[in-house]
Amino acid sequence: MASKQLRILVPVKRVVDYQIRPRVNKAGNAIETNGVKFSINPFDDIAVEEAVRIKEKNKSLVENIHAVSIGPAKAQDILRNCLAKGADTSTLIDSKDVQLEPLAVAKVLKEIVDKQKTNLIIMGKQAIDDDCNNTGQMLAGLLNWPQATNAAKVEFVDSDTVKVTREIDGGEETISGTLPMVITTDLRLNTPRYVGLQNLMKAKKKPMEKLSLKDFSNVDVQPRLKVISMEEPKPRAPGVAVKSVDELIEKLKDVKAI
Ligand code: AMP
Repeated sequence: MASKQLRILVPVKRVVDYQIRPRVNKAGNAIETNGVKFSINPFDDIAVEEAVRIKEKNKSLVENIHAVSIGPAKAQDILRNCLAKGADTSTLIDSKDVQLEPLAVAKVLKEIVDKQKTNLIIMGKQAIDDDCNNTGQMLAGLLNWPQATNAAKVEFVDSDTVKVTREIDGGEETISGTLPMVITTDLRLNTPRYVGLQNLMKAKKKPMEKLSLKDFSNVDVQPRLKVISMEEPKPRAPGVAVKSVDELIEKLKDVKAI
């Protein structure tokens, strides 16, 4: 393999833990976040794992893995976790309580890409809180880089060329591109490792740069959309147990299902 050095950026978002059933707040315009457990967005955890696996496979190929999160100060917990898993450096961009829209996130990430001299971005295909599936594509657009979305497999053909197998409706598609590029992760790409206490302690010594949105005053992060309302799914009507196929057919006829 040739000697191109990879500088990988992994953007990670702090979201309501995937095992928690989200509730809508009293105002009916956002998810209730008080007293709720937060974790790294699962697709971003997969992105970190993939970056670390690339480094473990080809130590000389990867110069740096940088994790970045835009969110509240508490997002440093997920960054610490990324460092414990194998990221080398990190940046927390404190946005206080402001939730940026994907375009604003992409613009801020572009600044980090320039600063970090990133040549490969591996990120989640989707944040499970807003379900936007926008940021990776917008970032690739802003950078004018190729993008491989919904990656199920990532292979380096040489230090410049990456082959990505993508999950598509009912099958797979394999594409290849040259760096710099953006890859977004799908669920089947890998199974993220568990982080032990020892690695978490060691990670405390790894660098975490702390910035705030004010450090990006040149970037327009103004929201362009307004949430009008948010509703929880309607509760399902209870099921009915039937004793025979004939009874089932009768019931289905009653509700005009057949
Ligand atoms: P979305 O377009 O909101 O569904 O998010 C797609 C991906 O963009 C996520 O999986 C993250 O990798 C990245 N991302 C979105 N929001 C943030 C954020 N606030 N901080 C860091 N990365 C983010």
